[in-house]
Amino acid sequence: MAKCFYCRNQAVTFRPYSGEYLCSSCFLKSVERKVQRTINKYSLLEETDIVAVAVSGGKDSLTLLTILNKLEQRFNETKLTAVTIDEGIKNYREESLKFAESVTSELKIPHKVYSFKKLFGYDFDEVIETLREYGFDKSSPCSYCGLLRRVALNIAAKDAGATKLATAHNLDDESQTVIMNFLRADYIRALRTGPKLEKIHPGFIPRVKPLIEIPEREIILYAYFSKLPLHSQTCPYAQDAFRNDVRAFLNKMELTRPEVKYNILHINNRLRSVYMNLEAQLSLNACIECGEPTSQELCKKCQLLKILNQIKAGTHKT
Ligand code: SF4
Ligand code: ZN
Ligand code: ZN
Repeated sequence: MAKCFYCRNQAVTFRPYSGEYLCSSCFLKSVERKVQRTINKYSLLEETDIVAVAVSGGKDSLTLLTILNKLEQRFNETKLTAVTIDEGIKNYREESLKFAESVTSELKIPHKVYSFKKLFGYDFDEVIETLREYGFDKSSPCSYCGLLRRVALNIAAKDAGATKLATAHNLDDESQTVIMNFLRADYIRALRTGPKLEKIHPGFIPRVKPLIEIPEREIILYAYFSKLPLHSQTCPYAQDAFRNDVRAFLNKMELTRPEVKYNILHINNRLRSVYMNLEAQLSLNACIECGEPTSQELCKKCQLLKILNQIKAGTHKT
């Protein structure tokens, strides 16, 4: 491998989209600088923010927490707090919960775990088992899980008194989501995808994605060089065929066009900025059942729980 572009030490990695060779120490600093630039470019965080960081215990969220903790030391007034959602998935979540616990305690960041069971009355295993028994398998498990987790994170962030909720979506996640929105012709989701989702309802904690310009491969390297624990278990429900197809397509495109994922991000940001009345387009109400922000009368989480409760009680009619 060639010499590091910055310090001339032995390089350990190469960035195809910029042509840089980097040693491990310059690589770590460069990822941190890039996250800081993303925060500045999209005005993701203010100095007085209380930031709830969504920490699942996987490589992305531990990397996000580590970098924000380093950057926070430059802004004395920003406060970090970590929130973890335990979906209740056997033989999967246990290991990452331990990692979330150990890294937050090492960094001395307050940490609280919220479970689906406590918040909604069901473990995720139970949700899927009940839906499957009843023949509901039209959507992939990830769409139910994502729906419940979004609500759980908003509740957790409010509970922590946070002014922002930071999630660890990276460049690969985001570019895949943009393409999926286009392929589904999902206009509302397309408007909601981006580095920042503003306060579109008094009960909604604005969401920010500081890792949105960091490729997944660099997050794996960052976690490795920073000696962060790496989660080895795979979720038994991870079978989102649509996302897998889009991922494979983009990874293949990237081999000959290294900037393709960045281009997707940029075009999506440009398209979103065309909608000057974005907030009006996304205006939300409070759910009549639970009070969480929703575009309908009864939020999707409450609709799902209603069906689950009816199935359990034997009163559900198709
Ligand atoms: Fe939830 Fe799907 Fe992730 Fe499993 S893979 S934790 S079901 S979103
Ligand atoms: Zn170097
Ligand atoms: Zn509701």
